[in-house]
Amino acid sequence: MKNHNRSRREFLNVTGAGIAAFAGSRWLRAAEGSDPDLVVFNAKVYTVDSRVPKAEAFAIKANRFLAVGSNAEIKALIGKSSETYDAKQMTIVPGFIDCHNHAPGEVLLYDVLVGNPFVVEFVTIDSIVAKLRERAAITPPGTWVEGYFFDDTKVKDNRMLNVHDLDQVSKDHPVAVHHRGGHTSFYNSKALEMADINKATPNPPGGTFDRDANGELNGRVTDRATAPLRSVGKRTTFTAAQKEQRARDGLAYISKMFVRYGVTSVHHEGGDLAALQQVRARGDLLHRVSFETSGKILDSMIADGIQSGFGDDWIRFGATSEHGVDGSYSERTMALSTYYPGMTPPYKGNVTETQQVTNEWTEHVHRAGIQCNWHANGDVAIEQVMTAYERAQKLFPRTDARPKITHCTLINDDLIRRLKAAGAVPAPFTTYAYYNSDKFKYYGEEMMKHMMAYRSFLDAGIVAAAGSDFSPGPFDPRMAIQGMVTRTGWDGQTWGANQKITVEEALRVNTLNGAYNSHEESTKGSITPGKLADFVVLSDDLFTVPQDKIKDLEIVRTVVGGVIRYQA
Ligand SMILES: [Zn+2]
Repeated sequence: MKNHNRSRREFLNVTGAGIAAFAGSRWLRAAEGSDPDLVVFNAKVYTVDSRVPKAEAFAIKANRFLAVGSNAEIKALIGKSSETYDAKQMTIVPGFIDCHNHAPGEVLLYDVLVGNPFVVEFVTIDSIVAKLRERAAITPPGTWVEGYFFDDTKVKDNRMLNVHDLDQVSKDHPVAVHHRGGHTSFYNSKALEMADINKATPNPPGGTFDRDANGELNGRVTDRATAPLRSVGKRTTFTAAQKEQRARDGLAYISKMFVRYGVTSVHHEGGDLAALQQVRARGDLLHRVSFETSGKILDSMIADGIQSGFGDDWIRFGATSEHGVDGSYSERTMALSTYYPGMTPPYKGNVTETQQVTNEWTEHVHRAGIQCNWHANGDVAIEQVMTAYERAQKLFPRTDARPKITHCTLINDDLIRRLKAAGAVPAPFTTYAYYNSDKFKYYGEEMMKHMMAYRSFLDAGIVAAAGSDFSPGPFDPRMAIQGMVTRTGWDGQTWGANQKITVEEALRVNTLNGAYNSHEESTKGSITPGKLADFVVLSDDLFTVPQDKIKDLEIVRTVVGGVIRYQA
Protein backbone atom coordinates (compact mmCIF):
# COMPACT_ATOMS: atom_id res chain seq x y z
CA MET A 1 0.00 0.00 0.00
CA LYS A 2 1.47 3.34 -0.96
CA ASN A 3 1.55 5.92 1.78
CA HIS A 4 -0.49 8.85 0.52
CA ASN A 5 1.31 11.22 2.82
CA ARG A 6 4.73 10.41 1.52
CA SER A 7 4.97 13.20 -1.01
CA ARG A 8 3.74 15.74 1.51
CA ARG A 9 6.26 14.79 4.12
CA GLU A 10 8.92 17.27 4.98
CA PHE A 11 11.75 16.97 7.39
CA LEU A 12 12.59 20.27 8.98
CA ASN A 13 15.87 21.04 10.65
CA VAL A 14 14.36 23.15 13.35
CA THR A 15 17.38 24.23 15.32
CA GLY A 16 20.16 23.32 12.98
CA ALA A 17 21.63 21.39 15.90
CA GLY A 18 20.06 18.17 14.80
CA ILE A 19 16.41 18.21 15.84
CA ALA A 20 14.18 17.03 13.05
CA ALA A 21 10.48 17.57 13.42
CA PHE A 22 7.90 15.92 11.26
CA ALA A 23 5.26 18.04 9.66
CA GLY A 24 2.64 17.51 7.04
CA SER A 25 0.80 14.39 8.10
CA ARG A 26 -2.74 14.58 9.32
CA TRP A 27 -2.23 12.66 12.57
CA LEU A 28 0.49 14.98 13.73
CA ARG A 29 -1.65 18.04 13.12
CA ALA A 30 -4.31 16.42 15.29
CA ALA A 31 -1.72 15.68 17.95
CA GLU A 32 -0.19 19.13 17.94
CA GLY A 33 -0.21 20.69 21.34
CA SER A 34 -0.50 17.40 23.17
CA ASP A 35 2.34 15.77 25.07
CA PRO A 36 4.59 13.03 23.72
CA ASP A 37 3.64 9.60 25.09
CA LEU A 38 7.27 8.75 25.77
CA VAL A 39 10.53 10.66 25.86
CA VAL A 40 13.79 8.70 25.74
CA PHE A 41 16.95 10.60 26.64
CA ASN A 42 20.59 10.18 27.69
CA ALA A 43 21.12 7.57 24.95
CA LYS A 44 23.61 6.96 22.16
CA VAL A 45 21.11 6.85 19.32
CA TYR A 46 22.23 5.57 15.93
CA THR A 47 19.26 6.58 13.80
CA VAL A 48 20.26 5.08 10.39
CA ASP A 49 18.88 8.35 9.01
CA SER A 50 21.65 10.16 7.14
CA ARG A 51 20.07 13.55 7.85
CA VAL A 52 20.54 13.12 11.62
CA PRO A 53 22.75 10.04 12.03
CA LYS A 54 23.44 10.45 15.76
CA ALA A 55 21.24 11.76 18.53
CA GLU A 56 20.87 11.68 22.31
CA ALA A 57 17.12 11.57 22.66
CA PHE A 58 13.79 11.15 20.92
CA ALA A 59 10.09 11.54 21.62
CA ILE A 60 7.25 9.20 20.65
CA LYS A 61 3.60 10.01 20.08
CA ALA A 62 0.85 7.68 18.86
CA ASN A 63 3.27 4.77 18.23
CA ARG A 64 5.56 6.84 16.03
CA PHE A 65 8.72 8.85 16.46
CA LEU A 66 7.76 12.49 16.93
CA ALA A 67 11.14 14.20 17.20
CA VAL A 68 14.81 13.21 17.40
CA GLY A 69 17.63 15.38 18.74
CA SER A 70 19.75 16.43 21.71
CA ASN A 71 18.82 15.84 25.36
CA ALA A 72 17.98 19.52 25.84
CA GLU A 73 15.85 19.75 22.71
CA ILE A 74 13.84 16.64 23.38
CA LYS A 75 13.49 17.04 27.15
CA ALA A 76 11.88 20.41 26.43
CA LEU A 77 8.99 18.47 24.88
CA ILE A 78 8.20 16.53 28.09
CA GLY A 79 4.65 17.25 29.17
CA LYS A 80 2.49 16.31 32.14
CA SER A 81 1.33 13.04 30.63
CA SER A 82 4.69 12.03 29.10
CA GLU A 83 6.51 8.96 30.34
CA THR A 84 10.27 9.24 30.39
CA TYR A 85 13.08 6.73 30.00
CA ASP A 86 16.66 7.52 31.01
CA ALA A 87 18.74 5.24 28.78
CA LYS A 88 21.83 5.79 30.97
CA GLN A 89 24.13 6.10 27.96
CA MET A 90 23.06 2.79 26.47
CA THR A 91 22.95 2.42 22.69
CA ILE A 92 19.69 2.57 20.72
CA VAL A 93 19.26 1.44 17.13
CA PRO A 94 16.19 0.93 14.90
CA GLY A 95 14.41 -2.42 15.25
CA PHE A 96 16.09 -5.13 13.18
CA ILE A 97 14.39 -6.41 10.03
CA ASP A 98 14.79 -9.98 8.77
CA CYS A 99 13.76 -10.31 5.12
CA HIS A 100 13.71 -14.09 4.91
CA ASN A 101 12.46 -16.32 7.68
CA HIS A 102 10.48 -19.55 7.77
CA ALA A 103 9.36 -18.77 11.34
CA PRO A 104 8.83 -22.44 12.27
CA GLY A 105 7.42 -21.81 15.72
CA GLU A 106 5.42 -25.02 15.66
CA VAL A 107 8.52 -27.11 14.99
CA LEU A 108 10.38 -25.38 17.83
CA LEU A 109 7.53 -26.05 20.23
CA TYR A 110 6.39 -29.54 19.34
CA ASP A 111 9.00 -31.45 17.30
CA VAL A 112 12.22 -33.30 18.05
CA LEU A 113 15.13 -30.84 17.74
CA VAL A 114 18.37 -32.72 17.08
CA GLY A 115 20.46 -29.53 16.84
CA ASN A 116 20.50 -26.08 18.44
CA PRO A 117 18.38 -23.60 16.42
CA PHE A 118 19.96 -20.44 17.82
CA VAL A 119 23.68 -20.83 18.53
CA VAL A 120 26.70 -22.89 17.49
CA GLU A 121 26.51 -26.16 19.40
CA PHE A 122 28.03 -29.54 18.56
CA VAL A 123 25.96 -32.69 19.19
CA THR A 124 26.70 -36.43 19.00
CA ILE A 125 25.06 -38.92 16.67
CA ASP A 126 24.18 -40.94 19.80
CA SER A 127 22.18 -37.99 21.14
CA ILE A 128 20.25 -37.77 17.86
CA VAL A 129 19.44 -41.49 17.93
CA ALA A 130 18.42 -41.33 21.59
CA LYS A 131 16.04 -38.38 21.05
CA LEU A 132 14.39 -40.07 18.08
CA ARG A 133 14.08 -43.40 19.93
CA GLU A 134 12.20 -41.60 22.66
CA ARG A 135 9.77 -40.23 20.06
CA ALA A 136 9.47 -43.63 18.33
CA ALA A 137 8.45 -45.23 21.64
CA ILE A 138 5.28 -43.11 21.70
CA THR A 139 4.59 -43.27 17.95
CA PRO A 140 2.61 -46.10 16.28
CA PRO A 141 4.62 -48.31 13.83
CA GLY A 142 4.38 -47.11 10.22
CA THR A 143 4.13 -43.48 11.34
CA TRP A 144 7.01 -41.06 10.68
CA VAL A 145 9.50 -40.22 13.39
CA GLU A 146 11.31 -37.02 12.41
CA GLY A 147 14.10 -34.86 13.76
CA TYR A 148 14.74 -31.21 12.88
CA PHE A 149 17.61 -28.68 12.96
CA PHE A 150 20.29 -31.22 12.07
CA ASP A 151 23.54 -29.59 10.97
CA ASP A 152 26.01 -31.98 9.36
CA THR A 153 29.05 -29.89 10.31
CA LYS A 154 28.04 -29.51 13.97
CA VAL A 155 28.48 -33.20 14.85
CA LYS A 156 31.15 -34.25 17.35
CA ASP A 157 31.56 -37.63 15.62
CA ASN A 158 33.02 -35.77 12.64
CA ARG A 159 31.29 -37.98 10.08
CA MET A 160 28.06 -37.94 8.08
CA LEU A 161 24.87 -39.25 9.70
CA ASN A 162 23.76 -42.37 7.78
CA VAL A 163 21.07 -44.97 7.22
CA HIS A 164 22.66 -47.36 9.75
CA ASP A 165 22.46 -44.76 12.52
CA LEU A 166 18.80 -44.22 11.78
CA ASP A 167 18.10 -47.97 11.60
CA GLN A 168 19.08 -47.97 15.28
CA VAL A 169 16.13 -45.67 15.98
CA SER A 170 13.59 -48.10 14.57
CA LYS A 171 13.03 -50.73 11.94
CA ASP A 172 9.23 -50.40 12.19
CA HIS A 173 8.91 -46.65 11.73
CA PRO A 174 10.01 -44.56 8.77
CA VAL A 175 12.62 -42.22 10.27
CA ALA A 176 13.89 -38.94 8.83
CA VAL A 177 16.37 -36.37 10.07
CA HIS A 178 15.98 -33.07 8.28
CA HIS A 179 18.98 -30.82 7.75
CA ARG A 180 18.28 -27.32 9.03
CA GLY A 181 19.11 -26.10 5.52
CA GLY A 182 15.86 -27.67 4.30
CA HIS A 183 17.16 -29.26 1.11
CA THR A 184 18.54 -32.59 2.35
CA SER A 185 17.23 -35.30 4.65
CA PHE A 186 18.58 -38.54 6.03
CA TYR A 187 16.39 -41.67 6.08
CA ASN A 188 16.39 -45.12 7.65
CA SER A 189 15.99 -48.36 5.65
CA LYS A 190 12.29 -48.60 6.45
CA ALA A 191 11.60 -45.18 4.91
CA LEU A 192 13.59 -45.94 1.75
CA GLU A 193 11.85 -49.32 1.46
CA MET A 194 8.37 -47.78 1.84
CA ALA A 195 9.19 -45.33 -0.97
CA ASP A 196 10.49 -48.19 -3.09
CA ILE A 197 13.96 -46.70 -3.39
CA ASN A 198 16.92 -49.05 -3.72
CA LYS A 199 20.46 -48.83 -4.98
CA ALA A 200 19.28 -49.33 -8.58
CA THR A 201 16.93 -46.30 -8.43
CA PRO A 202 18.23 -43.56 -10.75
CA ASN A 203 18.57 -39.96 -9.52
CA PRO A 204 15.63 -37.81 -10.64
CA PRO A 205 16.25 -34.39 -12.26
CA GLY A 206 17.16 -31.85 -9.59
CA GLY A 207 17.97 -34.34 -6.81
CA THR A 208 20.10 -37.30 -5.67
CA PHE A 209 19.91 -40.52 -3.65
CA ASP A 210 23.42 -40.54 -2.27
CA ARG A 211 25.54 -43.69 -2.12
CA ASP A 212 28.52 -44.87 -0.12
CA ALA A 213 31.84 -46.06 -1.58
CA ASN A 214 30.29 -49.49 -2.30
CA GLY A 215 27.36 -48.03 -4.22
CA GLU A 216 24.88 -48.73 -1.39
CA LEU A 217 22.34 -46.05 -0.41
CA ASN A 218 23.77 -44.09 2.53
CA GLY A 219 20.44 -42.55 3.52
CA ARG A 220 21.15 -38.96 2.39
CA VAL A 221 18.64 -37.66 -0.15
CA THR A 222 18.84 -34.21 -1.74
CA ASP A 223 16.35 -31.68 -3.13
CA ARG A 224 13.79 -33.08 -5.58
CA ALA A 225 14.66 -36.70 -4.78
CA THR A 226 12.96 -36.31 -1.38
CA ALA A 227 9.51 -36.07 -3.05
CA PRO A 228 8.74 -39.85 -3.17
CA LEU A 229 9.68 -40.15 0.51
CA ARG A 230 7.33 -37.37 1.51
CA SER A 231 4.33 -39.14 -0.03
CA VAL A 232 4.59 -42.43 1.91
CA GLY A 233 3.89 -43.43 5.52
CA LYS A 234 1.49 -41.99 8.06
CA ARG A 235 1.98 -38.80 9.97
CA THR A 236 0.54 -38.02 13.37
CA THR A 237 -2.84 -36.41 12.75
CA PHE A 238 -4.55 -33.65 14.66
CA THR A 239 -8.13 -32.44 14.84
CA ALA A 240 -8.89 -29.09 13.20
CA ALA A 241 -9.02 -27.46 16.62
CA GLN A 242 -5.67 -28.97 17.63
CA LYS A 243 -4.07 -27.81 14.38
CA GLU A 244 -5.28 -24.26 14.89
CA GLN A 245 -4.11 -24.22 18.49
CA ARG A 246 -0.65 -25.52 17.50
CA ALA A 247 -0.33 -22.92 14.73
CA ARG A 248 -1.32 -20.09 17.08
CA ASP A 249 0.94 -21.20 19.92
CA GLY A 250 3.83 -21.74 17.52
CA LEU A 251 3.52 -18.22 16.13
CA ALA A 252 3.17 -16.67 19.58
CA TYR A 253 6.30 -18.54 20.65
CA ILE A 254 8.43 -17.46 17.69
CA SER A 255 7.18 -13.88 18.03
CA LYS A 256 8.54 -13.83 21.59
CA MET A 257 11.86 -15.17 20.32
CA PHE A 258 12.07 -12.48 17.62
CA VAL A 259 11.69 -9.55 19.98
CA ARG A 260 14.04 -11.21 22.47
CA TYR A 261 16.68 -10.86 19.74
CA GLY A 262 15.66 -7.32 18.80
CA VAL A 263 13.93 -8.34 15.57
CA THR A 264 10.87 -6.14 15.09
CA SER A 265 9.88 -6.95 11.48
CA VAL A 266 10.04 -10.32 9.76
CA HIS A 267 9.27 -11.47 6.25
CA HIS A 268 7.41 -14.73 6.81
CA GLU A 269 7.69 -17.48 4.25
CA GLY A 270 4.04 -18.42 4.16
CA GLY A 271 2.45 -20.00 7.22
CA ASP A 272 -1.06 -19.89 8.61
CA LEU A 273 -2.52 -16.47 7.82
CA ALA A 274 -5.66 -17.09 9.90
CA ALA A 275 -3.59 -18.11 12.92
CA LEU A 276 -1.42 -15.04 12.47
CA GLN A 277 -4.48 -12.78 12.66
CA GLN A 278 -5.82 -14.65 15.70
CA VAL A 279 -2.49 -14.33 17.49
CA ARG A 280 -2.55 -10.62 16.76
CA ALA A 281 -6.13 -10.32 18.01
CA ARG A 282 -5.24 -11.99 21.29
CA GLY A 283 -2.33 -9.57 21.73
CA ASP A 284 0.49 -12.06 21.22
CA LEU A 285 1.89 -10.75 17.93
CA LEU A 286 4.92 -8.76 19.09
CA HIS A 287 6.65 -8.20 15.73
CA ARG A 288 5.48 -6.87 12.35
CA VAL A 289 4.93 -9.31 9.51
CA SER A 290 5.52 -8.99 5.79
CA PHE A 291 3.58 -12.05 4.67
CA GLU A 292 5.15 -13.79 1.67
CA THR A 293 2.99 -16.45 0.15
CA SER A 294 2.56 -18.96 -2.65
CA GLY A 295 0.01 -21.58 -3.69
CA LYS A 296 -3.65 -20.99 -2.95
CA ILE A 297 -3.31 -17.58 -1.30
CA LEU A 298 -1.08 -16.25 -4.10
CA ASP A 299 -3.49 -17.64 -6.70
CA SER A 300 -6.41 -15.86 -5.08
CA MET A 301 -4.40 -12.63 -4.71
CA ILE A 302 -3.76 -12.73 -8.45
CA ALA A 303 -7.36 -13.68 -9.25
CA ASP A 304 -8.83 -11.00 -7.00
CA GLY A 305 -6.39 -8.19 -7.65
CA ILE A 306 -4.69 -8.10 -4.25
CA GLN A 307 -1.21 -6.68 -4.68
CA SER A 308 1.94 -6.55 -2.58
CA GLY A 309 1.50 -3.87 0.08
CA PHE A 310 -2.10 -4.74 0.96
CA GLY A 311 -2.57 -4.87 4.72
CA ASP A 312 -1.48 -2.66 7.58
CA ASP A 313 1.60 -1.95 9.68
CA TRP A 314 1.35 -5.29 11.51
CA ILE A 315 0.40 -7.80 8.82
CA ARG A 316 0.93 -6.87 5.19
CA PHE A 317 1.26 -8.88 2.00
CA GLY A 318 4.83 -8.54 0.81
CA ALA A 319 6.56 -10.30 -2.07
CA THR A 320 5.76 -13.89 -2.97
CA SER A 321 7.44 -16.57 -0.93
CA GLU A 322 10.69 -17.80 -2.45
CA HIS A 323 10.19 -19.58 -5.76
CA GLY A 324 12.97 -22.19 -5.69
CA VAL A 325 15.35 -22.32 -8.62
CA ASP A 326 18.26 -24.28 -7.15
CA GLY A 327 19.54 -26.13 -4.14
CA SER A 328 21.12 -25.12 -0.88
CA TYR A 329 24.26 -23.28 0.13
CA SER A 330 24.77 -24.88 3.52
CA GLU A 331 24.03 -28.38 2.21
CA ARG A 332 26.20 -27.90 -0.88
CA THR A 333 23.54 -28.53 -3.54
CA MET A 334 23.34 -24.99 -5.02
CA ALA A 335 23.77 -24.74 -8.80
CA LEU A 336 27.27 -23.64 -9.79
CA SER A 337 28.70 -22.89 -13.22
CA THR A 338 31.87 -24.73 -12.16
CA TYR A 339 32.35 -28.02 -10.32
CA TYR A 340 32.35 -28.19 -6.53
CA PRO A 341 36.04 -28.31 -5.60
CA GLY A 342 37.27 -31.84 -4.87
CA MET A 343 33.98 -33.74 -5.20
CA THR A 344 33.63 -37.21 -6.69
CA PRO A 345 31.68 -37.88 -8.79
CA PRO A 346 32.03 -34.38 -10.32
CA TYR A 347 29.04 -32.30 -9.24
CA LYS A 348 27.68 -28.85 -10.10
CA GLY A 349 24.67 -28.83 -7.77
CA ASN A 350 20.93 -29.02 -8.43
CA VAL A 351 18.90 -26.75 -10.70
CA THR A 352 15.38 -27.40 -9.39
CA GLU A 353 13.34 -25.37 -11.90
CA THR A 354 13.46 -25.03 -15.68
CA GLN A 355 14.05 -21.69 -17.38
CA GLN A 356 10.64 -21.98 -19.02
CA VAL A 357 8.73 -22.46 -15.76
CA THR A 358 10.78 -19.68 -14.15
CA ASN A 359 9.83 -17.37 -17.05
CA GLU A 360 6.14 -18.24 -16.92
CA TRP A 361 5.83 -17.95 -13.15
CA THR A 362 7.70 -14.63 -13.16
CA GLU A 363 5.56 -13.11 -15.88
CA HIS A 364 2.33 -14.28 -14.21
CA VAL A 365 3.25 -12.76 -10.83
CA HIS A 366 4.89 -9.61 -12.21
CA ARG A 367 1.86 -8.77 -14.36
CA ALA A 368 -0.40 -9.07 -11.30
CA GLY A 369 1.46 -6.27 -9.50
CA ILE A 370 2.97 -8.65 -6.98
CA GLN A 371 6.64 -8.44 -6.03
CA CYS A 372 8.48 -11.51 -7.34
CA ASN A 373 10.77 -13.39 -4.98
CA TRP A 374 12.97 -16.30 -6.04
CA HIS A 375 15.33 -18.54 -4.12
CA ALA A 376 18.58 -18.52 -6.06
CA ASN A 377 21.95 -19.38 -4.52
CA GLY A 378 24.32 -20.33 -7.33
CA ASP A 379 25.44 -18.09 -10.21
CA VAL A 380 23.58 -20.38 -12.62
CA ALA A 381 20.32 -19.94 -10.70
CA ILE A 382 20.72 -16.16 -10.29
CA GLU A 383 21.29 -15.85 -14.02
CA GLN A 384 18.15 -17.91 -14.69
CA VAL A 385 16.16 -15.56 -12.42
CA MET A 386 17.53 -12.41 -14.04
CA THR A 387 16.72 -13.75 -17.50
CA ALA A 388 13.13 -14.42 -16.40
CA TYR A 389 12.76 -11.03 -14.76
CA GLU A 390 14.29 -9.04 -17.64
CA ARG A 391 11.91 -10.86 -19.99
CA ALA A 392 8.85 -10.09 -17.82
CA GLN A 393 9.84 -6.45 -17.45
CA LYS A 394 10.25 -6.12 -21.21
CA LEU A 395 6.80 -7.63 -21.83
CA PHE A 396 5.14 -5.64 -19.06
CA PRO A 397 7.22 -2.72 -17.79
CA ARG A 398 6.60 -1.75 -14.14
CA THR A 399 8.46 0.96 -12.28
CA ASP A 400 10.12 0.25 -8.95
CA ALA A 401 9.09 -3.42 -8.92
CA ARG A 402 12.13 -4.34 -6.77
CA PRO A 403 12.48 -7.98 -7.81
CA LYS A 404 13.61 -9.83 -4.69
CA ILE A 405 16.32 -12.46 -4.85
CA THR A 406 16.47 -14.49 -1.69
CA HIS A 407 20.05 -15.61 -0.86
CA CYS A 408 21.62 -14.41 -4.13
CA THR A 409 24.75 -16.07 -2.84
CA LEU A 410 27.34 -16.46 -5.61
CA ILE A 411 27.68 -13.45 -7.89
CA ASN A 412 29.99 -12.17 -10.62
CA ASP A 413 30.46 -8.76 -12.26
CA ASP A 414 27.90 -9.43 -14.97
CA LEU A 415 25.22 -10.46 -12.46
CA ILE A 416 25.95 -7.38 -10.34
CA ARG A 417 25.44 -5.22 -13.42
CA ARG A 418 22.15 -6.94 -14.25
CA LEU A 419 20.84 -6.74 -10.68
CA LYS A 420 21.67 -3.04 -10.52
CA ALA A 421 19.99 -2.34 -13.86
CA ALA A 422 16.86 -4.22 -12.76
CA GLY A 423 16.68 -2.54 -9.33
CA ALA A 424 16.77 -6.00 -7.76
CA VAL A 425 16.82 -6.35 -3.96
CA PRO A 426 18.90 -9.30 -2.77
CA ALA A 427 18.53 -10.72 0.75
CA PRO A 428 21.74 -12.73 1.32
CA PHE A 429 22.44 -14.93 4.33
CA THR A 430 23.21 -12.94 7.43
CA THR A 431 24.53 -15.21 10.17
CA TYR A 432 26.31 -17.70 7.90
CA ALA A 433 29.66 -15.88 7.91
CA TYR A 434 29.84 -16.61 11.64
CA TYR A 435 27.69 -19.73 12.01
CA ASN A 436 28.64 -21.72 8.90
CA SER A 437 32.37 -20.99 8.59
CA ASP A 438 32.90 -24.74 9.02
CA LYS A 439 31.29 -25.28 5.59
CA PHE A 440 33.20 -22.78 3.48
CA LYS A 441 36.05 -25.21 2.80
CA TYR A 442 33.62 -27.06 0.53
CA TYR A 443 33.58 -24.00 -1.75
CA GLY A 444 37.10 -22.65 -1.18
CA GLU A 445 38.43 -19.11 -0.78
CA GLU A 446 38.25 -18.22 -4.48
CA MET A 447 34.48 -18.77 -4.54
CA MET A 448 33.99 -17.28 -1.06
CA LYS A 449 35.28 -13.96 -2.39
CA HIS A 450 32.08 -13.79 -4.45
CA MET A 451 29.62 -15.20 -1.91
CA MET A 452 27.30 -13.32 0.48
CA ALA A 453 28.78 -10.39 -1.39
CA TYR A 454 27.57 -7.48 0.73
CA ARG A 455 30.61 -5.33 -0.18
CA SER A 456 30.05 -5.85 -3.90
CA PHE A 457 26.32 -5.14 -3.63
CA LEU A 458 26.71 -1.95 -1.60
CA ASP A 459 29.57 -0.66 -3.80
CA ALA A 460 27.36 -1.13 -6.85
CA GLY A 461 24.49 0.76 -5.20
CA ILE A 462 22.33 -2.35 -4.82
CA VAL A 463 20.12 -2.22 -1.71
CA ALA A 464 21.06 -5.54 -0.11
CA ALA A 465 19.04 -6.52 2.95
CA ALA A 466 19.34 -9.27 5.57
CA GLY A 467 17.75 -12.69 5.09
CA SER A 468 18.59 -15.13 7.88
CA ASP A 469 16.60 -17.95 6.25
CA PHE A 470 15.82 -19.36 9.71
CA SER A 471 15.68 -22.38 10.16
CA PRO A 472 18.78 -22.78 7.95
CA GLY A 473 20.56 -19.88 9.68
CA PRO A 474 20.12 -18.49 13.20
CA PHE A 475 18.33 -15.11 13.02
CA ASP A 476 20.25 -13.24 15.75
CA PRO A 477 21.08 -9.81 14.21
CA ARG A 478 24.09 -9.40 16.52
CA MET A 479 25.63 -12.59 15.11
CA ALA A 480 24.70 -11.32 11.63
CA ILE A 481 26.40 -7.94 12.04
CA GLN A 482 29.52 -9.49 13.57
CA GLY A 483 29.78 -11.90 10.63
CA MET A 484 29.27 -9.16 8.04
CA VAL A 485 31.97 -6.90 9.48
CA THR A 486 34.56 -9.58 10.30
CA ARG A 487 33.77 -12.42 7.84
CA THR A 488 35.21 -14.56 10.63
CA GLY A 489 33.41 -17.63 11.91
CA TRP A 490 32.96 -19.25 15.31
CA ASP A 491 36.09 -21.32 14.55
CA GLY A 492 38.23 -18.21 14.02
CA GLN A 493 38.49 -18.79 10.27
CA THR A 494 38.11 -15.79 7.95
CA TRP A 495 36.69 -16.30 4.46
CA GLY A 496 36.15 -13.80 1.66
CA ALA A 497 37.47 -10.85 3.67
CA ASN A 498 37.09 -8.66 0.57
CA GLN A 499 33.31 -8.72 1.26
CA LYS A 500 33.57 -7.13 4.73
CA ILE A 501 31.33 -4.13 5.32
CA THR A 502 31.48 -1.52 8.09
CA VAL A 503 29.39 -1.61 11.27
CA GLU A 504 27.45 1.38 9.97
CA GLU A 505 26.69 -0.44 6.71
CA ALA A 506 25.79 -3.68 8.49
CA LEU A 507 23.38 -1.80 10.74
CA ARG A 508 21.73 -0.26 7.67
CA VAL A 509 21.54 -3.64 5.92
CA ASN A 510 19.74 -5.08 8.96
CA THR A 511 17.31 -2.15 9.35
CA LEU A 512 16.56 0.45 6.64
CA ASN A 513 17.53 -1.79 3.72
CA GLY A 514 15.13 -4.40 5.10
CA ALA A 515 12.32 -1.83 5.03
CA TYR A 516 13.25 -0.97 1.44
CA ASN A 517 13.10 -4.66 0.51
CA SER A 518 9.32 -4.63 1.06
CA HIS A 519 8.66 -1.03 -0.09
CA GLU A 520 8.25 0.11 3.54
CA GLU A 521 11.17 2.51 3.87
CA SER A 522 8.84 5.47 4.31
CA THR A 523 7.32 3.97 7.47
CA LYS A 524 10.14 2.09 9.19
CA GLY A 525 13.80 1.08 9.24
CA SER A 526 15.24 4.22 10.86
CA ILE A 527 14.68 6.44 13.88
CA THR A 528 13.08 9.26 11.94
CA PRO A 529 10.19 11.52 12.94
CA GLY A 530 6.98 10.13 11.45
CA LYS A 531 8.15 6.54 11.29
CA LEU A 532 6.88 3.68 13.43
CA ALA A 533 8.58 3.71 16.84
CA ASP A 534 10.42 0.38 16.57
CA PHE A 535 13.78 0.35 18.33
CA VAL A 536 16.21 -1.74 20.34
CA VAL A 537 18.23 -0.80 23.42
CA LEU A 538 21.66 -2.47 23.52
CA SER A 539 23.82 -2.82 26.64
CA ASP A 540 26.88 -1.37 24.90
CA ASP A 541 27.91 0.50 21.77
CA LEU A 542 28.18 -1.77 18.75
CA PHE A 543 30.47 0.80 17.08
CA THR A 544 33.08 0.75 19.85
CA VAL A 545 33.08 -2.79 21.31
CA PRO A 546 35.67 -5.15 19.76
CA GLN A 547 34.10 -6.48 16.56
CA ASP A 548 34.33 -10.08 17.73
CA LYS A 549 32.16 -9.17 20.73
CA ILE A 550 29.23 -7.66 18.82
CA LYS A 551 27.30 -10.92 19.10
CA ASP A 552 27.62 -10.73 22.90
CA LEU A 553 25.96 -7.32 23.29
CA GLU A 554 22.91 -7.66 25.48
CA ILE A 555 19.49 -6.85 24.04
CA VAL A 556 18.17 -4.83 26.96
CA ARG A 557 14.80 -3.79 25.59
CA THR A 558 12.85 -4.17 22.35
CA VAL A 559 10.14 -1.64 21.57
CA VAL A 560 7.65 -2.01 18.71
CA GLY A 561 5.20 0.80 17.98
CA GLY A 562 6.32 2.62 21.13
CA VAL A 563 5.37 -0.35 23.34
CA ILE A 564 7.88 -2.53 25.23
CA ARG A 565 7.68 -6.03 23.75
CA TYR A 566 10.78 -7.45 25.43
CA GLN A 567 12.68 -6.43 28.52
CA ALA A 568 15.80 -8.31 29.68
ZN1 LIG B 1 14.19 -20.04 2.61
